Parts: sequence; C-alpha cells; structure tokens
Amino acid sequence: MSQRLIEQKVVILLGPPGGGKGTQAEKIARQYGLLHIDTGRALRAEQASGSELGLKVQSYMEKGVLAPFELVMDVIKAALLKETSNGNGFLFDGFPRNLTQAAGLERILQELSLTLDAALYLKMPHDILLDRLGFRLTCKQCDTKFNLKLKPPQNPSVCDLCSGELFQRSDDKPEVIENRLKAYTEETSPLIEHYTTLGVLQTLDANQPIEVVFELAQTILNPLFSQLPVTTQKD
Ligand SMILES: [Zn+2]
Repeated sequence: MSQRLIEQKVVILLGPPGGGKGTQAEKIARQYGLLHIDTGRALRAEQASGSELGLKVQSYMEKGVLAPFELVMDVIKAALLKETSNGNGFLFDGFPRNLTQAAGLERILQELSLTLDAALYLKMPHDILLDRLGFRLTCKQCDTKFNLKLKPPQNPSVCDLCSGELFQRSDDKPEVIENRLKAYTEETSPLIEHYTTLGVLQTLDANQPIEVVFELAQTILNPLFSQLPVTTQKD
C-alpha cells in the first residue's frame, strides 16, 4: 500500500434528491482537489476500460439488471486505487445509500488505510423538495429543465430556448416524487444516525442559495484540509 493514500481525505455527501447535492459535489471536489466518485460513472468507466472487472459489469448491463453489491464494491475499490495524481482525497456523492453500503465502504477504506473524515448532510425541508421536483418540466428537444413554480417558462408547454415541446418526465410526477422522497428518508435516516455515532456527521441547511451552502461546506472542510496543499492554488 502506498504512503500516498494514507494522507488522503474521504468526504461523503448525503442529501435528498433535489437538494442540490450534485452542484455542491462539483464545487467541493474542485475546491479541495478531490476525486469525485459517482458510482454510476465508475461502473461505466470500468466497463469501458475492458478490464476483467469491466467485463463482469458489462454482463450485468447487457442483461439490464443492477450489478450485485460485491461487484459495485470492487469497482469502487478499483476507482480509489486508480487515483494516481496528487489528489487530496475522495468525495462520494450519493453513495452510500444505506447501512449495508456504508459497511461495505468502511471495509474498503480500512483495506486501503483510509478513514472517513466527514459526512456532510445537505438538509432540505420536504415541501421545498416537492416544489423543486414535482413541478419540473423538461424540453423534449434540448433537455432544458424548467419548473412551473420556481423557474416557469413563458408558455407552460413551450421551451423558452428552442420552442421545443415541454413535458413532465414520468419520474417527476408528484406521486412518484412523494414515493422517492419517502424511500430516501427510510433508507438514509439510519445512515444519518450511523454517521452521528461515528462522530463525522455535519448537517448543513441546504435551503439557501448555492454559494451560501458552499460557504457553509467550506467552513466545515477548511480545517480538515489546512494541512494539505490546495491544488487549485497558483504559485
Ligand atoms: Zn428546448
């Protein structure tokens, strides 16, 4: 095991769908020089690499079924080991989703002599999430997203940008959104308790402008990275 991995930080980002997690993940990864690990992307990259592991992933993708848990864990471990640049560590976004995955991740981190340094929980009120997700319209032509409540198009059925037709994706329908949020809460509440017990949970009020949430995240993360060279800094 290389010395390098030992000094690297591991940060997890938790939060409901529609809570702005993806946006914050990108900003945090850039600011601190972290490798942003998205499991879906990691699976596709492994498959594209044509490795032995990638071929296994491909066999599941071809069948249209989810890769089994152990295989996902192997892909994540491979992604952690592949990081050969002088990155400052890793940022997990949308993973783990439940206690089983959390235990799997902890096992891999231990095998690589890494520790989980922080779990940032982006907390959003339920009704705001419903507004953000349940009123979403997508342009059939250019894929631009609108929101009838928060970012209404001039005409509710026509795209402002390309005049394409706007529609509501089936997984954006209010009853589907309610179920997604309910499933999310049921799965992640134990996770939030778990990370509280481990002493790494940091809760952020995510119902604020993007830059304000990012500043809160930096207040939490800066002390963690104060010992490391910030890769975005110019000499
Ligand atoms: Zn459009």
